[in-house]
Amino acid sequence: MTGRAMRQDDPMRRSGAVWCEEHDRWECARNAKRTGDRCHGSAIRGRDRCRMHAGRSSTLEKVIGEGNLAAWSTEHVSADASPLDPGTVVLNQMRIAVLRSDGYGELLRIQIEMDTEPGHELAGLVGTTFAAGRDGTRVETGERARALATEERLWRDRAVSYAKAAHDMGIAERHVELEQERAQLVTTAFLAALEVGGLLPEVRSLMIERFLERLGGSTVAGEVVA
Ligand SMILES: [Zn+2]
Ligand SMILES: [Zn+2]
Repeated sequence: MTGRAMRQDDPMRRSGAVWCEEHDRWECARNAKRTGDRCHGSAIRGRDRCRMHAGRSSTLEKVIGEGNLAAWSTEHVSADASPLDPGTVVLNQMRIAVLRSDGYGELLRIQIEMDTEPGHELAGLVGTTFAAGRDGTRVETGERARALATEERLWRDRAVSYAKAAHDMGIAERHVELEQERAQLVTTAFLAALEVGGLLPEVRSLMIERFLERLGGSTVAGEVVA
């Protein structure tokens, strides 16, 4: 026993998984064929079943689970919302991944632009240079550019995983492509609007960061999808 208690705000409450007092964790809601008793397998995050009872590839189940958790974590979802249709979840996550990847790509572009501005040392993606932050502190720009490049790649890969998952679920290729194009239209329009203002690169960066924050889906950042 680890002594963890089920938290009232745990998003797993919506998954249909069963909280097991004996094992202190969310468990599979299915019954084991052999014994007829409840399975007691550890539930996949965001799902009501264990890997054994998933029936689909566990990669796909994880994607759907992460999608559910991300959807439940947004402020617009009512407390008793049921799990979403898996196809919808995967396409939603794919759109968010495309938006994030494009957003981080633009942040990277702005960072490099600032690094190479007259008065700043040329940093690009290698080495560490320092620029003055908004509050006068020194900021490691080379480090930031590297981190942004990593985020862009992570979300780009993730978008590909989701597209592949959608394909595996039988969603038509053309439909997936259209969803990707629609997501790209949003960032293109948003970035075009930022260009008009003649804003300082620091301000454009802040606006894009806020945009990324508000997208949701950040709860899955850092976790491995595939
Ligand atoms: Zn148990
Ligand atoms: Zn099970």
